[in-house]
Formats: sequence, C-alpha cells, structure tokens
Amino acid sequence: MAEAGSFADRVKQQADIVRVVGEYVRLKKSGANFTGLCPFHAEKSPSFAVHPTKQIYHCFGCGVGGDVFKFVMEMEKCAFPDAIRIVAEKCGIAIPRPKERSPEERKENQQRAVLVEMHREAQSYFVKQLEGTLEGKAARAYLEDRGMDKDTISRFGIGYAPSGGDLLLRHLKIKYSEKLLVESGLISRDQSGRLFDRFRRRITFPIANESAKIVAFGARALGDDQPKYLNSPETPIYSKSNVLYHLDRAKDSLRRQDFAILVEGYMDAIAVARAGFGNVVASCGTALAESQIKLLGRFTKRVIVNYDPDFAGQAATERSLSALLEQDFEVRVLALPAIGDKKADPDLFIREKGSDAYQKQLREAPPYVDYLISRARQMDLTTGEGKLRAVNYLLPYVQKVPNRILRSEWATRISQQLRLEEPVLRAALSKAANERRSEVKTQPELVGRAAKQVERRLIRMLAEAEGFRRELAERLQSGQLYHGLETEKIFAALIVASFSGEPVQSSEIGAMLEDRDRRMLFEILFEEAQEGSWEEAQSCLEALARKQVERELAEVQRGIEANPTGAAMRELLTKKQELMRRLAASA
Ligand SMILES: [Zn+2]
Repeated sequence: MAEAGSFADRVKQQADIVRVVGEYVRLKKSGANFTGLCPFHAEKSPSFAVHPTKQIYHCFGCGVGGDVFKFVMEMEKCAFPDAIRIVAEKCGIAIPRPKERSPEERKENQQRAVLVEMHREAQSYFVKQLEGTLEGKAARAYLEDRGMDKDTISRFGIGYAPSGGDLLLRHLKIKYSEKLLVESGLISRDQSGRLFDRFRRRITFPIANESAKIVAFGARALGDDQPKYLNSPETPIYSKSNVLYHLDRAKDSLRRQDFAILVEGYMDAIAVARAGFGNVVASCGTALAESQIKLLGRFTKRVIVNYDPDFAGQAATERSLSALLEQDFEVRVLALPAIGDKKADPDLFIREKGSDAYQKQLREAPPYVDYLISRARQMDLTTGEGKLRAVNYLLPYVQKVPNRILRSEWATRISQQLRLEEPVLRAALSKAANERRSEVKTQPELVGRAAKQVERRLIRMLAEAEGFRRELAERLQSGQLYHGLETEKIFAALIVASFSGEPVQSSEIGAMLEDRDRRMLFEILFEEAQEGSWEEAQSCLEALARKQVERELAEVQRGIEANPTGAAMRELLTKKQELMRRLAASA
C-alpha cells in the first residue's frame, strides 16, 4: 500500500492511529492496547481494539481491521489518496504540491506570473489615485468617516479606482497585450469590443493569496452605484473559492491562537484586525466554499463564525456551519447584539463599542450547537408539527458531525432544550446515521482460535522477535514446517517479510492477506502475551516438525488402507517405518 519513501509512507510513519481513530471512537487504554465500541457494527461492550505500536486496528466482533488509512477509507467512504490527505491533515503533516510537468504548464505558470505583476502595478496605481487626486480626496473622506485612518489605509493597501473609465487601461496597455489585459479581470470588453476599466469610482481592496501575492481586487462603490461591492472575476490567478481574505497576514496569529474569526467581507476583516485580532479571515462571499475550509484547516480547526446579522448572513452562517462540521471543525457562533435599533456587523460593533467589548463577545460566543438550538427554539414548539420542524431543522447538522460520541451528546442536549422525548429523537438520529453507513455483517466467532497455540506463538515471534526472527524464518522455510497449516498464508507472508531485513509492518502484512487470514493474524497480535525466547521458538519448531510427521504418517496410513498392489504397498510400508522412527526420536 504505502510505498517506501512515498508521501503515503511518510504520513504513515508520522501518523498516530490512536489519535485518528480517537476522533471517531471513544478509546480507553486497556493493557498495551486501546479499546472502544466498534464504529462498524452495533455493540454494547467494546470489542474494537487499536494497537498503538503496531499501528493497526481490529474488531473482534465483526472482524474489520487494517491500518490508519484503511480505517479512514472505511469511515469516510473515500479512496486511498483521499485517506492519505485526511490523515495528513488530522496529524498536521504538510501536503506537498504536485510539481509542474509539461511545457504547457510551464507556459501557464509564466502567464500567471505576468498577471500577478500586472496586479502589483494596478495596486500601486490605485494607491496613488487615493493619495494624490481630487477624486481620491473624496474617497479618503468617506474612509475617514468609517473610522479608517492613514495607517489603516496604508496597512491594508486601500486604494481608489477613478471614474474616468479607461485610466487604468491607458496605464497598463503600454506594457501588456489586450488579451492579457482582459484575462487579468482588471479590464473588461464591451459588446462592441471596446476595452474599459472594470472598477470605476470605487474604493479598492487588494486581495492576496496565501503567499501574499495580490491576485484580485474587491471594490466598494463610493456613492450609491450598484452593485455596492464588486470583485474581480475568476481568472487564471484568482478563484474566489480558493482564497480567504487576510489569510496571508493572519497565518502566524492563527497558529499561535489556534482559532480563526471568520467574517463575511473585507471591511469587517479590516475592522477586526485593526482592533487587535490578527486571526481574522473573510470568506468574501456569503457562504464558505469547501476549498476555503480546507485551506483554513491547515492553520487551525477552530472557528468563531461572525457573519452579518441580516437574513443573508444568517443563512450564510448556517450553510458555512454545515460545511465546517463536515470538515471536523470545532465551531462557535458569534451573533453580535444590536446597537440601538441597528443590527451590528463586526465593523459597526467595534466602532461603537470598542475592541474590549468585542473581545468579551468572542469569549462568550456559544458553541454552534447552542446557537442552532436557540434558533430552533425561536420556532413554535407548542405543537407537534412545530417540534418536527425544529428537529428537521437541526437534524442535517447533527448528521454532518463525523464523531459518533459528539452526535450522541447533541441528541441529549437537543431533547433537553426542546423538551422532546429523547428516544424519539435518537431513533431519528440513528436512522440518519445508518443511512450514511453501509451495512456490515457481524461474525461474532473468533477465527483466530482455529490456530493452534504453537502456531500462534510462532506467528507472534515472527512478527515481533527482532533478535532471532531471521533464523526462525529460515528454519520454518527449510523444513517447510508450516505447509498445510490453517495459518500457512500468514506464515508465508511473515517469512518473506522477515527475509527483507526491515522491521515487520503488521499492517502491511495484513493488507496483503485475505480477510480471513488478516483477522486471524490481528487476533493473534492483539493477544496479551509474553515476549518469546529462542528456546521457546525451538520447542515450537520441534512441535511443528512432529505435527508434520504425524500428518505425513496419516497420509501414508490412508494409502496403506487403500490396499495397493506389490511395489507400491512395499514403498508405503517402508515410508511408514521411517516416519515412526522420526516420531519416536523427536518425542
Ligand atoms: Zn466491529
């Protein structure tokens, strides 16, 4: 599965299966292992085990088992490459980017570099317009009115796009082709083919990608022009769903504080950052895209969502919540209190109440569960119909929570807060949960018991005994002692691995075996057992050798009973005598 030296291999070396599984299953230490309730079949007493040093899991109930990737593939119903990525993300291992390959890709990269350069030039043009023109003066007055001083304006690179209609175009076309100008999104083309500036009479906010390169602009109308906010279109260097505004500056703060404040627009982000909260990012659009969440997840898995309190903002909050929950984020929701009769966005709230008040609001922001429940409680809960509506409102969120334990805790809280009968709610929840998961057959018998004690001990020693593994493997191989055993395939796989000279990876062996054999192997590996010695190994080998002679003897005896003629019978009788001698000698 994980090729040596590959990224998958590196993730596997660094990943901690106990931690990954622990996000889905409540695990308890039990001897050398961890145990819990199996997430793949319904059970009341734990038969699911995780081995921290061998980095494998195994269920004694339904027989599932494997390594950390197999677990994630089964839980998330995803393919191997996705499992690698998920495990890497959960364990904070950086994912390498694919390298450029073809000449076309190189050409595209060059084109992207030119577009970035063009944005840099546009940025300094907009800044100059704000600083040095008559029109810019009016724009500055507007910004000052919103509480933005000189420092803030320069810190966030705020600029101004004049009303002329082709001033930026004239500035840029000296250097760039028409085709590139249009591709940049800074310049538009009308139906008659005439080029003109996309942004006119607007305050401009540079939007940078993660590595702090300006790739787009957001622009707010100065007067009552529509639309109020206008952004760059999708271009070769800018995709709205892949960029979070302010992330380039927020990185350190996100890592240090291990949570993000998520706001809707750049004005909000600037207001929050100015007030001293550097860990703010804006989605720059109403709902958060999955790729934006993944981007954020590289820095922190904890978010306080502080969207606008209007209807669109609430809807966006709820959509974003679903997406964040799916990605395993810990989410709180900050709904700022109204100021007078005005609903407060972060910008307004901080201007009116100051940063200490905002800090207090952040600290007290409730977990998303409470936020959603309080929203549900605003519905009419006096009738059965109303209660059903409230449950149906909450259910989709609960379903998105990947962690079973958390889902169950939710159920309790919802039933308490909405005064619903818990069994009814739980039934609805588990029905929803079952629909997510494919059925797993339960096979309660322990297959490993089929293997004899001697075989179990030898298998364990082959997997663990660093000191004499190779010698043991050679003895088993030369005498063909394991041939014909129930455990033959397990021995064969372990012997090959022992000859490689590398430490034996139980999970790799398990992945090579068929289900039944893997179950047997894992059951043996999870047994509480003493460390083996070479003396014990030798006596086990002798016992196997004796078993082998006995098997041959039984074979010969069957031949004799078939009563063959002359020479064949004589040969069988000689063979029998020899085997009897060997048996007597080994006893
Ligand atoms: Zn199970």
